[in-house]
Amino acid sequence: MEFKIVGGSIVTMSERGIIRDGCVIVEDDRIVDVGSRSIASRYHGYEEIDADKCVVIPGLINCHHHIAMGLLRGYADDLILTEWLEKWVWPFESKLTGYDIYIGALLTSTETLLSGCTTVNTMYHYSYDYNEAKALLDLGMRGVVGHVCFSWRREDDLKLIEHLYRVWHGKDGRIRVSVDPHACYTVDPNYLVELHNLCIEFNKKNPETPVILHTHLAETEDEANRVEKTFGVETGGSVVRYMDKLGVLDRYTVAAHCVHLSSEDISILARRRVKAVHCPVSNLKLSSGIAPIPAMLREGVHIAIGTDSVCSHNRSDMFETMKFAALIHKGVYKDPTVMPASLVLKAATVSGAEALMWRGLGVIEAGYYADIVVVDFRKPHLTPLYDEYSHLVYAVRGSDVKYVMVNGRLLVDNGCITTIDLEWLLDEAIKARDRVLERLHS
Ligand SMILES: [Zn+2]
Repeated sequence: MEFKIVGGSIVTMSERGIIRDGCVIVEDDRIVDVGSRSIASRYHGYEEIDADKCVVIPGLINCHHHIAMGLLRGYADDLILTEWLEKWVWPFESKLTGYDIYIGALLTSTETLLSGCTTVNTMYHYSYDYNEAKALLDLGMRGVVGHVCFSWRREDDLKLIEHLYRVWHGKDGRIRVSVDPHACYTVDPNYLVELHNLCIEFNKKNPETPVILHTHLAETEDEANRVEKTFGVETGGSVVRYMDKLGVLDRYTVAAHCVHLSSEDISILARRRVKAVHCPVSNLKLSSGIAPIPAMLREGVHIAIGTDSVCSHNRSDMFETMKFAALIHKGVYKDPTVMPASLVLKAATVSGAEALMWRGLGVIEAGYYADIVVVDFRKPHLTPLYDEYSHLVYAVRGSDVKYVMVNGRLLVDNGCITTIDLEWLLDEAIKARDRVLERLHS
């Protein structure tokens, strides 16, 4: 398909900055031209998307998620972490079938897409038939999908990763896979090294489509203790130092949370070029703490943004998450100049693409993939406009998104999803919830 998106402000996220009253030309899966409205007359017979009074941005990139947990939103809140997991989340999850996982993933990714996110990095239990990858493929989104690994099921994990990689890596140009040790307190040191080696092997085979290593790191204060108690090893009180000594931190590592860090930990993350994913809402809701993002940025740590699951965030809305990311550090540092809006938007676009090592995403320029979001600014809360970055981070809500394109395909048209029947999905989600609860209580 060929499209021209005409009018509005184009926030390119490249050195060209913002082009007002602009135009973006799309052919097949790529952006082929970007400029002022006048370039539109050069392209004939292209389907036109009216972006007048709108702001056009690169699709947002959510770097930490568990999209399959869509059925658990609001199931258990306001509990301490161990009770939340052991009494509520894990028993519910043990009753999920592959199809329930698929429906949960489809539900969350639909919500994610409708609120302007085009690429998601997600970790969950992989199943052969129905899974997160299939949900993203069917919906038309782009994503990195991993199977979450634990020591207690090492042999099964390795079989599932092999299948996930063989069937899904590179699928349709939109799906890639990752290697996902859950965390250093649930994956023993030998298995961590083994998974890291597997990641290296995959990357030797396909250097053009990198496989990242996606894990949780330093989310809670007691992780080093838990590692020592569980595996009988020395950590020196730092999980970052422990992981570094194992040799498993490098530029392929995408580490969610990174809340509890010493200055030495921050230096290690910068030196190893680890990609840290800031999940401010999840960290607040689970009372994990607040990641020292401004200090990490100062030391050169790469920062991307994630929502985490709808169980610990309750909404898969990157606009909401960006606002939290911009606000909480101002309060913590008592400095309104930290985390300015343009930097936060960069973390959710350009830096997200770099974190996932997916070239061609996060920017609106010729040659990049046509992953584009048009936000309707003809709203009371977005009028008048002085600064696009400000409104995008502090005032826009996911429901302001009007059009979303992924890989040159229009997936959200005037606020409506085009690839699946939303009413069917909502009914299926309710039926799936009822079936899980029935199994749980029988
Ligand atoms: Zn997580």
